[in-house]
Amino acid sequence: SYRSRSAFKLLEMDEKWHFLDKGDVQVVLDLGAAPGGWSQVVAQKLGWDRPPPALGKAARMREPNGWEGAAWSAPPADAPDAGFDPLNISGLEGRGGVGRGTIIAVDLLRMAPILGVLALQADFLAPETEALMRGVIVRARGPDARADVVLCDMAANSTGNAFHDIEASLAICTSVFEFSRQHLRPARSIGRDLGGVLLIKHFVHPLLHMFRREHLEPRFNDVRFLKPNASRTESKEGYFLCRGWKG
Ligand code: SAM
Repeated sequence: SYRSRSAFKLLEMDEKWHFLDKGDVQVVLDLGAAPGGWSQVVAQKLGWDRPPPALGKAARMREPNGWEGAAWSAPPADAPDAGFDPLNISGLEGRGGVGRGTIIAVDLLRMAPILGVLALQADFLAPETEALMRGVIVRARGPDARADVVLCDMAANSTGNAFHDIEASLAICTSVFEFSRQHLRPARSIGRDLGGVLLIKHFVHPLLHMFRREHLEPRFNDVRFLKPNASRTESKEGYFLCRGWKG
């Protein structure tokens, strides 16, 4: 079972667009992740609910983070909170695992542990958080690593004042876009790879549409508006799915 109803929105959107379902997704960032429904979905999609694939010695040697071969086991139901301690990022090496991606979740709130998810309790909008996240990506995946997918379901507390909600949504979208400019993976020159994906929740309003036209559309190959059925029809939220970060 999932911790949030939001999980079904993500499942529905991925079912149609397959941004998590591609097999080559290595780094996923989940911004505004608590209580953890989206992170649970991502962990499943990236295979963290199954034992790691058995690999030959040669493949293990090639793995940049050196898979330790530790026995896989599901965390016990009464597992202590393995919440990520941002001041102690040693021990992250190899957390990428073999064939299973690195998932980094950020929220103001503390999140109960999910196997495969590094949960960071921090304010995404605070200036120091970007360096903290970069540090985690580098420790887990190496200095050149970028995010394949950035998910943002972040929402400021609604005040009931539409003007405030629009301003808050625009501030979050702007900040997440600026972050993505630095940390999303551009298209690889081989194959039909499209480049990194950004999925971002927003308050539906002409100002956010303008943001899409001015910032998202010029920088991504494909931008579309999604309104999953699992999202209440009366709610003013929607998602921009942006595929193919141009770099
Ligand atoms: N996707 C989540 C799930 O499936 O469980 C639900 C996310 S909930 C709709 C929005 C979250 O954004 C809240 O947990 C809130 O604490 C978080 N949030 C809002 N502003 C934030 C900020 N500045 N930094 C980090 N998290 C923030």
